[in-house]
Parts: sequence; C-alpha cells; structure tokens
Amino acid sequence: MSKGLLFPRIVFCFFLISTLIFLPSIKPSMVYAQSGTENPSENEIVTTAGSSDPIYYDVPADYWAFSNIQYLSNLQIIKGYESSSGDKYFNPGGSVTRAQAAKMLVLALGSTPKANAVSSFSDVPNNHWAVGYIERAKELKLFEGFQNGTFGPEDTLKRSQMAKVISEAFDLDFNNYDPSVQVFYDVSKDYWAYDYIAKLYYNGISNGSNHKFTPESLTNRAQFSAFLSRAINPDFRMEVQDPTVATAKVTADVLNIRSQPSTTSTIIGKLSNGNIVTVRSISGDWANIEYNGVVGFVHKMYLKLYSLDPSKPLLNRIIVVDAGHGDHDPGATVGTTYEKDIVLKVSNYLVGYLKNAGAQVIPTRTTDSFLSLEERVNFTKSVDGEAFVSIHVNAASSTAAKGTEVYYDTGSNENGTESRQLAYEIQKQIVADANMYDRNIKDSGFYVIRNNDIPAVLVELGFLTNAEDRAKLTSDTYLQLYAKAIYEGLVEYYKK
Ligand SMILES: [Zn+2]
Repeated sequence: MSKGLLFPRIVFCFFLISTLIFLPSIKPSMVYAQSGTENPSENEIVTTAGSSDPIYYDVPADYWAFSNIQYLSNLQIIKGYESSSGDKYFNPGGSVTRAQAAKMLVLALGSTPKANAVSSFSDVPNNHWAVGYIERAKELKLFEGFQNGTFGPEDTLKRSQMAKVISEAFDLDFNNYDPSVQVFYDVSKDYWAYDYIAKLYYNGISNGSNHKFTPESLTNRAQFSAFLSRAINPDFRMEVQDPTVATAKVTADVLNIRSQPSTTSTIIGKLSNGNIVTVRSISGDWANIEYNGVVGFVHKMYLKLYSLDPSKPLLNRIIVVDAGHGDHDPGATVGTTYEKDIVLKVSNYLVGYLKNAGAQVIPTRTTDSFLSLEERVNFTKSVDGEAFVSIHVNAASSTAAKGTEVYYDTGSNENGTESRQLAYEIQKQIVADANMYDRNIKDSGFYVIRNNDIPAVLVELGFLTNAEDRAKLTSDTYLQLYAKAIYEGLVEYYKK
C-alpha cells in the first residue's frame, strides 16, 4: 500500500464516519446527494451493519452501498481489485459476469467451490478461475448453462437475470403480498421475470427507481452487492411499501374514503371533485388510496386513473371496446355491406393499438357473434372496465346525411362529465384524421352508455347510406384510420 495515498484518505473517511455517527438524524437524501447517478430509492441505506473502515478507496463511507459492500467483503463473499500501487478498489459501477455471480452466490449460501472440478461447459476450461464455483452453482441449481452446452462465464448479468438467480438461490416467496399488483411499470405481468422481480420487491431487496426496475439493464457490482447482502441478512432489507400503481383524479362531487373495500365500512375521510390521490393498489372495483396522509378505500369508478409513466397514458387502463351488433343483427345495411362487419374490423384494429399502448383492452366481441345490450354492459362491469367505447355506423333515409357523431350520457351515467370529455376527444380525432363531416358530440341516453357508470361513449363513425362516407367505411385504410383516431382520442382523454 502506498502510505502517501492512504493516510489522507483515512483522515477523510474518518471525518465522514464521525459525521454519520454524531449526526444520527442525518437524512438519507443527504447521503444520496453524493451518490451521483445512483437512484435514491433502491439504494436506500437501511443499516450500518458491517460498517468499518473503508476497505476500498472507491467505496467511501458515504457511498450508498458502503455497508453492503463492507459486509460482503468481511464475509469474504466479494473482493475488490488491487491497483499497481497496491491500493484496493472495488469498481462498484462495473458489471457483474456470470462467473462472478456464480462465485458470490455459492459463497453467500455458505457453500464452497468444488475441488478439482471438471467443467461441464465447453466455454469454461478446467483451469478457469471460477470452474469450481460454476460447477457448484450448477449442482446447487443456481445457474443453468445454455442449450448449446456453454455457460457464458464472461457474459454480463442483466437485472432480470439477477432477480431470477437471487430469488431462486434464497427461495424467496411473495412474502404474503398479492403478486397480482404490478409493482414496476416497466415489468409487465407477462414479462418472463415478473415473479422473480416481484419477489425481490416484496422481500425488501429491491424497490427500483421511480417505479421502474429496468430489467434489461446490466447489474452493476454495487447493486449486486446490495441485493445479495439484503438476501443474506434481513437487517439490510428495506421496508416493503405498498406499491403505488397510479395517481388519480376524483370525478365525483363528494367521495367517501372507507376503512375497508365495502360501502358499509366506516367513513374515514372525504374527497371532492378534482382531488388528486395516490393509488396504492386496485382490487376489483376498489382502489386503496392515500390522500393527505389518510389511507383507505374508494370505489374505482369515481377515479380517473393516471399511469405513472407519462409517456404511456394508457398503461394498465382497462378499456372495453364494443363492436355493435353481430351475428343475426347486422345493424345498418346497404346491399351486402353490414355495419356489424365494419365495426368489428375497426374494433379489432383498435384493440391492437390499445394493446400496444399497454392498456388492458377487453373487447366485447372479436368475431361475428351477438351480445344483447344488457350483456355488453354487464360484461363491462364484470371486468371492472374503466372506459367504454361502443363502435357503430349510422344510416338515414336521406342519402345526404353524413359525418361523424359521438354520444355520451349525462342523464344516468355517473361519469357523464367524463364521458362528455372522452366523446369530445374522440370526435375531434375522427373528424381530423378521417376528414369527416363534424356532426358534433351529443348527449343522448343510448342503453350501453346510460347503463354504464364509467366514462362511456358511443361512436357513430359515418353514414353507410351516404356515398362519400360509404366509400371510407368500406376501405380498409379508413377503417384503420378510424381505429387510430379513437385510440388517439383515448390517449388525449387520459393525458388530461
Ligand atoms: Zn349500430
């Protein structure tokens, strides 16, 4: 060790340690402020267990993962590097290879490298430094090789892969939480590592950053150390917070906050129109919310839910798309052109656009089948729909009648004002995108919009009885345009 370098460093670090010791109320944010690009939430400093004099010059006592790295180093699970001048460093921002991860996990589980190991992988020679660890890791089922018989010892580990190996190595479960609540908005339920990542979250091992986990990015050495120390030693774990799934605006004039998800439970607070609440979870019709420190339940119907990702306003929204008519009910008919077929095509295109945008889109029909109006409404309620769009095509005795109109209902629909806003946005988009005559939005109590209480609209794309409109309604290009316009109307609605 170069004494010339070490001495001033010790003094410096001693100063920092004493600051931490003598100011126990130091706010974590003050520490985060010095941690550069590291995110403050995932890198929450939970404990000072394992603290001691800094081992590595690039992991000083105020580094966010200082205690985690010290702890694992003291257990000899990790070790750093030595510079040419003999100083020890850790390279906390460096990536973790699969060989390194295998070693750390084997040691973390209290196991040992296999002696005189013979490699089972074509790309791990018998003299590879990690062969004993890799073979032990394989035996312990911590790691599998690839189909082609390789292990990829120098491959770097993505955060999703790290979640998998740590969840499996430590046999993590959901810790009695409900795994159906999506925790991170960049980890959807159909993502291959959803369960592994949720298990890390619900065990206080990772809480991501700003509701994101970035599963495809690489795990760095500091992160891996943090996760591994939290997995080994519960003292390092973070307090598990109910995940925030959305924010929301209250759409009712007055909304009771209940102690339980039931209309008979105690009222513990009141909200009014326009209040913005934090949504911690949604189960069926009920949202668990927080407002000014009061945590309780409100009926989801009276909330306009906003995605936490401003670039994806439709993310996770449950949208029911209703293609009118079907089967023995053709709707408007001119010759052999039927409304039921046109609206089904538009509906199918719309479903595609909405799915791409991350919405949970639920069509009432995807084939030439028939549902009664009552069935369409009941279906929407049964899936806890949050917005309802019924698609139709018009007909009139006068062939001159043409253009687009979108209906909403303020008479019985409890979200009449929201319905009107949604109708306005969709009308505007269709008229512009498909160059339609503007018949404006209309307040009228059609069954499917008046018997729903979520924002509900009925779109009349155009008149099959008008030659100009009919040309568009029988053009696949235009049917896609209509679908795109309705989609954009929903996006605009959820942006506001
Ligand atoms: Zn119709």
